[in-house]
Amino acid sequence: MVQGVYHTHTARCLHASGDVPDYARAAAAAGLLRLGAADHTPLPDGRWASVRMRLDELPSYEAAVAAARRAVPSVEVLLGMECDVHPDYFAWYRDTFLARGYDYLIGSIHFLESDGREVSAFGGCRGGAALRDWSNKALAAIDCGLFAFLGHPDNIACGDAVWTPDIAAAVDEVCAAAAARGVPLELNSLGLREQRGYPWMPFWECAAAHHCTVVLSSDAHKPADTAAGLADLTDYARAHGLRVVEVATERGAPAPTGPRGSCPARHA
Ligand SMILES: [Zn+2]
Ligand SMILES: [Zn+2]
Repeated sequence: MVQGVYHTHTARCLHASGDVPDYARAAAAAGLLRLGAADHTPLPDGRWASVRMRLDELPSYEAAVAAARRAVPSVEVLLGMECDVHPDYFAWYRDTFLARGYDYLIGSIHFLESDGREVSAFGGCRGGAALRDWSNKALAAIDCGLFAFLGHPDNIACGDAVWTPDIAAAVDEVCAAAAARGVPLELNSLGLREQRGYPWMPFWECAAAHHCTVVLSSDAHKPADTAAGLADLTDYARAHGLRVVEVATERGAPAPTGPRGSCPARHA
């Protein structure tokens, strides 16, 4: 069983419920030792505003993490953020979050550009232009050194995705880079709960061939889902020969799970 879950949301993102203390209590009830708050990042220019907190809500978000640490001392509560991968914002993410003491960031691709049009990355990876944008963004996220792991990297499978030679080549390049840079990929159980088409098996066969590491996430949008699907994802990882890691509080050095794992008690 994993020690922690690192991808949970709050009501601030406008499509989730609950706040960080609720998720921390649910994590404790599920026997988890760590809970990472990683809500959808605000953006300095108000972009994609319908699915994220406003910039002026950051103090209340940070206060909610502090409140969760006080309310549930048996769980190590980490302050994180799920950041949309777009090079325009990389410096802002560093200065606004990591330079101000955030424990980790998730890099997730939610939007793609295709011939001047913006499309959802959830199944939007159709055609050469969108696929190129996807691999450029994924490779930039891996190379920039900001992200503790790539969130739902296989969300391009949503809908009627077909594993084509072009997609296979792009995924192969991304998995090779993730393995070389030691950036874990996220196996995400929201895809299982909502039958979205991910986890996408050919994607994970490729990741396993490159010996990529994986982080298991519930991507919970309500407290009751905090630990949802983690057992299924553990089985999935084992079946595919994928090594599961925890998010280390020292960025870039995830600790293995299981008996060899370490869990630094930062807030002891
Ligand atoms: Zn969300
Ligand atoms: Zn996401």
